Amino acid sequence: MKKNLICLAVLFIAGSALFAAELPKSEIVFGGITETKDDNKFISYELKLAEPVNISGKKISFTAQSFTPENMDFFSIDFLNKGSEKPCIGFVTWGKAIDGTAKNFVLNPKQAKKQQPQWRVTGLAEEPATQIDRVRITIGTIVNNVELKVSVKNLAAEIPAEFERFPVLEYAEIPVDIKHPATIYSAEDIERGRDNVKRYDWAKKVLNTARERTKQFMTYDLELMIPEDDIFNFVGCPKCGKGDDSWVLRSDGKSIECRYCKALYPSAELEEKGSAVFPIGTTGRTKTLTFYEGERRMKLGDDDMGNRYFLSGALRNRQFQPSNHIATAANIYALTGEMEYAQRVHDVLVRFAEVYPNYTLKFRPFVYESAEFNYMAGKLGGWKFGDSVRIANMAIAYDLTADSGCYSAEDKVKIENGIFREYVNMIAAHRPDADVTTNAVPAHQTAAAICAVLLKNDDLMRNYVLNGEGSFIPMIKKMYYRDGVWNENSASYCIMSNTPLLQLTEVINAYNRLLPEDERIDTSLWRNIFISLAYQIMPDGYPPPVNDSTMFDAFPAQYAELTYRNYPTARNLALLSNAVNLAGGTEYSVFKRDAKLPEVDENELKIINSTHVVAGSNWVFLRPQHNSKSTALIFDYGFYPNGHSHFANLNFSFYDHNRELVIDYGYMGWAHPIRRWQVSPLAHNMVTVDGQLPKTSRQGKLLALSESEFVQIAAGEGANAFPDLKDDRRALFLISIDENNHYVVDINRVRGGKEHLYTLQIEGGNELLTPSPATAEKLSFGTDGYFNGADYVVPVKKFPVAEMPVMSWNNKGIVTRLFWTPEADEELLLSKVPGNRIRSQPAREVDLAHFSSRVRDGKSDFAGVISASEKVHKVSRIPVNGDAVVLKVEYDGGVDLAAVNYQDVAVSLPDYPEVQLAPGYSVVRLGKNGWQVECSDKIYGKIVDIMPNKTNKIMVKLTKDENLANINYIFFDNYRDGACRIAEITEENGLLLLTLDAVDDKFMKEGDTFTAFKTVVKK
Ligand SMILES: [Zn+2]
Ligand SMILES: [Zn+2]
Repeated sequence: MKKNLICLAVLFIAGSALFAAELPKSEIVFGGITETKDDNKFISYELKLAEPVNISGKKISFTAQSFTPENMDFFSIDFLNKGSEKPCIGFVTWGKAIDGTAKNFVLNPKQAKKQQPQWRVTGLAEEPATQIDRVRITIGTIVNNVELKVSVKNLAAEIPAEFERFPVLEYAEIPVDIKHPATIYSAEDIERGRDNVKRYDWAKKVLNTARERTKQFMTYDLELMIPEDDIFNFVGCPKCGKGDDSWVLRSDGKSIECRYCKALYPSAELEEKGSAVFPIGTTGRTKTLTFYEGERRMKLGDDDMGNRYFLSGALRNRQFQPSNHIATAANIYALTGEMEYAQRVHDVLVRFAEVYPNYTLKFRPFVYESAEFNYMAGKLGGWKFGDSVRIANMAIAYDLTADSGCYSAEDKVKIENGIFREYVNMIAAHRPDADVTTNAVPAHQTAAAICAVLLKNDDLMRNYVLNGEGSFIPMIKKMYYRDGVWNENSASYCIMSNTPLLQLTEVINAYNRLLPEDERIDTSLWRNIFISLAYQIMPDGYPPPVNDSTMFDAFPAQYAELTYRNYPTARNLALLSNAVNLAGGTEYSVFKRDAKLPEVDENELKIINSTHVVAGSNWVFLRPQHNSKSTALIFDYGFYPNGHSHFANLNFSFYDHNRELVIDYGYMGWAHPIRRWQVSPLAHNMVTVDGQLPKTSRQGKLLALSESEFVQIAAGEGANAFPDLKDDRRALFLISIDENNHYVVDINRVRGGKEHLYTLQIEGGNELLTPSPATAEKLSFGTDGYFNGADYVVPVKKFPVAEMPVMSWNNKGIVTRLFWTPEADEELLLSKVPGNRIRSQPAREVDLAHFSSRVRDGKSDFAGVISASEKVHKVSRIPVNGDAVVLKVEYDGGVDLAAVNYQDVAVSLPDYPEVQLAPGYSVVRLGKNGWQVECSDKIYGKIVDIMPNKTNKIMVKLTKDENLANINYIFFDNYRDGACRIAEITEENGLLLLTLDAVDDKFMKEGDTFTAFKTVVKK
């Protein structure tokens, strides 16, 4: 994305703008029409003050309102010192923070997240705001040719209630007096680990793998691996302009190569001729760093990346990588007592303790004098997340080797000062949650916690890590749904957030053991967070790449190990055995897994692999009842959690034969060139209306959920996803012909808007694209094909409705077929789209065959069948006496009818007079052994007694004289994560006593109402 200031437009200024030595309170109104073809369009207004104002350290307040709220996507307000080109205070927001009503904003400089607009993290001048003589307000949009207009008034600066930074830790002269190990492994764990390694092959295998992985760490040149000069992570290629994933270390270990344009460093071409003297934090010391001066880039999202390319820093960053295995080397020492590993850990830590205090503070390629000026800045790479992850591992490695005999008292002091105290002083300059990236916060909390233990600093642990603003305990409550789903609704980002917490929760266990019972931290707060992804493991063995989640990002075995060890329930054991091959394990398992696990309860295993709802995600997983492990359908009926979500509405993916066949592209990284395609609506399996993005305020709703032996159904409506629709629904049926043969019926209905485009992404299908016509043009749909994805869709072939073939996508031997049943006005298209999904090979170019169908009259009933079973051979849409869509599916050995009846009375079929279809969703298997499944009625009820003293039990009353027999889920109204699984139902005095599933808790209150969907099977 490019940033472009297009004009300086002033409509009028009411009253006098100028007041002496304070910010003006008068109203500023400005705006204009956006006319450029750029991605993002901006209009700025600069207010000049007659006299400079000192607002240093003060909070800023103002009232703002947009007169064009539907067009406003961006707002920023910046304060510039006299003579300075860069603002020294700035706040910025993408999104709708400024809307149609006049709202008061109070913004605290340096406060990271709790405000909108947020504190600007790039492009700030490093100077106190003592001489402000200009205020620059910018508004922006992503839409062409629209009007923007905004009002800002009541500007003021006042002394805020400042975050009092955690006191700076002074260097000590003697080592901390502490009994090691004190962090994630106890002496008992080490005993257990040694025993496991002696007795079990799986544990021996883990140890051998650890030896393999640490080979480079053990032998790498120490001064190359831990360099004197800084390492830089965020360095793009100045030659081809690609981003920071460009540089690959070459096999000589002494040079890097751009994976895109093959540029080399070091080389004559890219010689680092630039150099500058940089401050080393606030120490007063400085150092000179060299760089290549190239073109100014604005490449990472919207952010300016400057024109300094620290190529030697990027090379050092690659050479630094082997040190990431330091904790593994320490584990080997702990398990075997082999001194060479302890010695190497010692050498690396001592060396690191010498250089780390002399690294500069930087955010991306920009060096800062103090952490105060950029709360994202760190020393290791260009974002403090790099410090947090590595310091935690170094601290654990130190803890495991400290008593090995390798360390003198002097070494210990050097390490404790030069690594742990240095890190704490940097990180604790801000709240633990001071990071633009929410999912980096757990890493900061974890590293601070481990340092707190090793430095024996209870104040740091209690008042910075665990409690207080932005600390761990409030974070757990706020950022995870009750069933453990991470708020970003993406497996990869969940893993990024959770992984550091594995260490933190173990540290808290160790810390708890030292506390009196009544002061202990409540560990049940995180009982679900590591295990939630285990409910999402798909037939290919991985969590689904939905939203910004990378395909084949594996569920970490340690999550299930840790959960079962800390909360040893039958369910957690089943999840462990389902997610992890217990014949293997991780380093964590070697230390923590008790030799003999109990038998897994088959019934619990069945629950995990049957149709279920993940409440926090708003995802339904349909699984067949027979042979459930190889087949699954995910239906995303939910909402838009945040910026790591995709612009998808009522989308689905489908797995069969243990493979993802109807796909969600997933995530290639934030700055990858095809991310724009992969997040777009046209890259999803959904219906898009008038080329618009589904609204971020959408709240989907489930209309049906049905489980029976051969039929699984989920239906939903995309409430509010597109403006002014009368109807926006999808029904998905997963129907089993027999144990191994399944098919998906997809029936959509949209009413309203004008153009509806159905799109479908199936893996494979390259053979469909050849020969590709030379005159291919891009798909034309809506006004902004760059955002809705149309710019990436190259039509290859049109099909007249009467000639629509059965299309097949061959994906390495698995053939998925689409039996589309078009109506007369559909425009059917096969296109070519970008299909690379392998994140480790970002430069790969792959095409996929893409199916779409369009209607132009605001009325669509798209429907078809998708199957990877050879048995299905014909699908047709059959006539109905009423308002319903019925597909007839013919397969080897039988015929099924799948129907959505939109009326509230039963409908009949001219071709099958014996069949009556109830309102809602039905499947009829014809023939003498046939049956009929109906999901038609809803059941309503409410809680009469929450039963506070009984775990997971509630007493409910149903509105009608009904029962909940054969119903697995109830959905609490008015809760986004209100889906609850029922484990058991008993009757007491006309009321029902429900035992909720193990994952659920009592988030609800007395009087709360719920809905359930009834399924009737007629033989
Ligand atoms: Zn390049
Ligand atoms: Zn997606």
